[in-house]
Amino acid sequence: MTRQNLTDYIKDSAAREFLAEHKAKKYRIFDSIELYINEPLPKDFDLEKVLKKIQKNIPEHFVSQIDMIMIGDIPMLKKKEMDAFYAEGIIYLMNNPSSPDDMYDDIIHEIAHSLESGLAEFIYGDGQLEYEFVSKRKMLYHLLVQHGYQRSQIDFINADYNESFDNFLYKEVGYDTIRNIAPNLFLSPYGATSLREYWANGFEAMYVGQDKDYIKRVSPKLYEKLEQLYYMGRFDAESEMAYDMEEEKGWSNKHGY
Ligand SMILES: [Zn+2]
Repeated sequence: MTRQNLTDYIKDSAAREFLAEHKAKKYRIFDSIELYINEPLPKDFDLEKVLKKIQKNIPEHFVSQIDMIMIGDIPMLKKKEMDAFYAEGIIYLMNNPSSPDDMYDDIIHEIAHSLESGLAEFIYGDGQLEYEFVSKRKMLYHLLVQHGYQRSQIDFINADYNESFDNFLYKEVGYDTIRNIAPNLFLSPYGATSLREYWANGFEAMYVGQDKDYIKRVSPKLYEKLEQLYYMGRFDAESEMAYDMEEEKGWSNKHGY
């Protein structure tokens, strides 16, 4: 999706701004993220359940890049058969989620993408994640060849997103087939899409509560990064918190150490 398309969508929705503002007041996440609902969610959809779950499971500093969540019947997402997208501080979500848990998963996934630009060096800089990802892709290549699929090996070595290759995996081979012939190679078949999706897929697995030992066994490097990220962020947030308290109210040690 281009930035122009997104801008047009936001402009198209301007007439509903009054309503959106009221909704945004009603729904805020961590007090810092505004939630706009441009087209209504299914009747009786439990949005508050989604928002509570995010606030409960996600450390607040993980969402520092996100200014807004926008829910609507977003044409560009619909066209690409996508449920969610992140761009420049905004998470876009379709207004027809199949369940609160699905919407939660989508938001977690897009939070992972929002962290990529600021943490690119940490996530990708040492090349370890790419090495793990491409090794898995090569394994997938051999398994698919054994099962009669034909596709250039170069596509499997390229870690960047490629729409034709995405369609090959998703539509031509199919995720059920990938699950069957390559069980436990990726946390879920979508993780095979590209290096960036491999990252987001792992982050999602971690915060939707998939078994950590399983994540570690399937994707050890990815797990190591996720674990480091969690403690790194926690350390920063606590240092800042301690510093703020020191400034305002004298020294304080909330955590007892
Ligand atoms: Zn993604």
